[in-house]
Amino acid sequence: MVRKSPNICPQCGTPGHSVDNATIKCLISTSLHRVENVKHYFCPDAGCSVVYFAEDGSHLFLTEDLRERVYQKEPNSDDVLVCYCFLHTLGGIRSSITDDGQSSIIDDIKYGIQQGHCACDWRNPEGKCCLGNVVSIVKAGNVS
Ligand SMILES: [Zn+2]
Repeated sequence: MVRKSPNICPQCGTPGHSVDNATIKCLISTSLHRVENVKHYFCPDAGCSVVYFAEDGSHLFLTEDLRERVYQKEPNSDDVLVCYCFLHTLGGIRSSITDDGQSSIIDDIKYGIQQGHCACDWRNPEGKCCLGNVVSIVKAGNVS
């Protein structure tokens, strides 16, 4: 059964974006028997422990079920990864910001994308490219 709003997190009510089941299979640390062959969504709310939920609301994957810490769930932790392909942490990105508001980490990630080195679909819990998150952090400046 699909709920009326299948993309709404059953725990916190925040709308999530859909993620490929392959992303979930790569990232959870529990048996893959738990990943039912239905659509799943990612809950981005920092205060909610649900990372993935099934469209029918029957299955939840919590932060503790993942191999990785999730940037969206710890948006203020310096040592949490933001870029899971090239291993850039929030603190590393913030401290890389120059006085004129640039960061060589953005160039590093763009180079990796050009070279086909990235694997955001499988390594980033969000299941998509991290570059937008990194650009937002650099734009916000070195606030730590
Ligand atoms: Zn949630």
